[in-house]
Amino acid sequence: MRITDILEITVPLEGDVANALVNFRTHTVSLVAVVTDARRGSRPVVGYGFNSIGRFAQGGILRERVIPRLMAAGPGELLNAAGDAFDPVGVLRAAMRDEKPGGHGDRAGAVAAIELACWDVNAKLADEPAYATIARHYGRRPADAVPVYAAGGYYYPEDSTRRLAGELRRYRDQGFAAYKIKIGGAALGDDIARIEAALAIAGPGANLAVDANGRFDFTTAAAYAEALRPYGLRWFEEAGDPLDYDLNARIVSAYGGAVATGENLFSLQDARNLIAFGGMRPGIDIFQMDPGLAYGLDEYVCMLAAMEARGFDRAQAHPHGGHLINLHIATALGLGGCEAYPGVFQPFGGYGPGCVLGDGMVIPSDAPGWGLEEKPELRHALGRLA
Ligand code: MG
Repeated sequence: MRITDILEITVPLEGDVANALVNFRTHTVSLVAVVTDARRGSRPVVGYGFNSIGRFAQGGILRERVIPRLMAAGPGELLNAAGDAFDPVGVLRAAMRDEKPGGHGDRAGAVAAIELACWDVNAKLADEPAYATIARHYGRRPADAVPVYAAGGYYYPEDSTRRLAGELRRYRDQGFAAYKIKIGGAALGDDIARIEAALAIAGPGANLAVDANGRFDFTTAAAYAEALRPYGLRWFEEAGDPLDYDLNARIVSAYGGAVATGENLFSLQDARNLIAFGGMRPGIDIFQMDPGLAYGLDEYVCMLAAMEARGFDRAQAHPHGGHLINLHIATALGLGGCEAYPGVFQPFGGYGPGCVLGDGMVIPSDAPGWGLEEKPELRHALGRLA
């Protein structure tokens, strides 16, 4: 098998919503296609991937650095020993040729989009959903279903609290039983009113997480911690800067309840530092590293190994992202769960109509690969790529 072409386009994210720090109106995603000379019937096998959501497309890095390196690599560098599937380690090594260590930044997402597209190829070559291919590769039995929560509860320009309640009600009607909403974009008192409006639909605090998107300094985080504690929430996410591990450790100790962080870590080394210095507690706190933002699936599996080596359980891993790729990964690797963006971040957010959702659990469809072709919202972008 050879790669005959690698295509990439920039796809805008839909939605005029904001968290405590950013509005997503200007955000974009790199959607890539790895075209191979393998065939199914009359058509070449093509793998699709993207660099998760909540950041920006990386067309420049892809076109100028990553794609030329992969096109120049020999098949022996990119394939497994049998030569019948991509080897993720070889793909990453070729994509990173001449890159210095550290300072991972946006290249981590560019490389991830390609690495994930190679997994789509591998699953399509085996005529099976990606979770089956991934589980077999890493010697695991895929989960029958994955716990899922609906992430949303953004700040809208108008009528934010009433729209929040309507949004959560819609998610409940779709079969979700747990939710996450944003905090930190309003005054503490207003945020508590939002939390109470959300709890009116979510029920017990264990069904509701809150996310400050890294906005708070220690003093503000501690004030929120004090106000949040009585609600017994599912978790308090990204209270402070994601790379300030000392701050995270102080917040963990001030709050007492479960905290979550990790979605803005872009490498194994960053995750190791969080694990070693962030004050995270085995059995309690939640890790949200996202393969699409951090060099892809194989790097993510190394992060899980680093967690487990320090006494954490993979049930504490809930990757950020809320899309089909991470649903397959959570299913394959037996993670604690994954998020879904059923209402926002189209065309990537949420799952396809073939996925089964009910009682707070979700099962991916049996479509080959990630099943991105099954998602109606993605059809236009995949057509543009072709
Ligand atoms: Mg978050």
